[in-house]
Amino acid sequence: TPSFSDLRCLIVGAASGIGHATAELLSTKAGRVIGADLPTSQWPAARTPYAQLPIDVSEPQSVEEAVEQAISLAGGLDVVINTAGILGKVQPSAEETLEEFDRLLRVNLVGAFALSKAVLPHMAANGFGRLVHFSSTAGKEGVAGMTGYSASKAGITGLVKALAREYATTGVTVNAIAPGKIDTPLVSGHPPTPQDLERIPMHRLGTAEEAAALIEYIISPKASYTTGFVYDLSGGRASY
Ligand code: NAD
Repeated sequence: TPSFSDLRCLIVGAASGIGHATAELLSTKAGRVIGADLPTSQWPAARTPYAQLPIDVSEPQSVEEAVEQAISLAGGLDVVINTAGILGKVQPSAEETLEEFDRLLRVNLVGAFALSKAVLPHMAANGFGRLVHFSSTAGKEGVAGMTGYSASKAGITGLVKALAREYATTGVTVNAIAPGKIDTPLVSGHPPTPQDLERIPMHRLGTAEEAAALIEYIISPKASYTTGFVYDLSGGRASY
């Protein structure tokens, strides 16, 4: 089992929000951090510089290439954190086109499967691995006006549970995090109303740093007896 300071980590979706905060945190604690995001993404300044690769999780070829590059740069991968995701338009389901629905599933769910396929056999061969995907409270409760997004995030639950069981004896854990509302560029177009905040027992949004802190725990080599679990990160909102 590696120690935390040896971990070679790939963070997908690292140019913004939770992925960026996680890259910032891990670049001071882990052995190696490699960020990946869309080729068109603007990368914010990093406190400790790390490699930045292009990836489009909706393109299987791009996923394979980025994973190969990351493995050759770092000499292997112990940790993969997938924060890539899109929210889509908020609209009644009657107006949501099949193309829009399909795109949400393609990026948020099929992308997570493509990335899982590309990294899990490698991790299993090493006898150690930590794979973390992002679900959402939207996937547990459903959000009116966000049908495709909610469906894609519910899909993440089934994905990590099936993969976790398949890989349970290999030293690899597969888990997800279900955030409520975290203050990142993803949700900056939908600022919380006072009623939104009232529904959160802590009466505030979460921060990207609080998400990174949970990721730090899940990927730690000591966190070895939890797999197939969807961790809540909702300020006490979860009622399941
Ligand atoms: P964000 O928008 O700040 O960051 C997401 C990153 O994913 C961006 O840098 C974006 O360029 C990248 N990305 C989008 N499509 C991609 C693709 N096809 N290939 C590669 N990268 C792609 O979002 P965030 O708030 O940090 O969210 C991270 C994850 O957490 C997402 O899966 C999101 O759905 C989930 N989540 C967020 C919240 C929230 O309130 N912020 C709540 C629940 C779930």
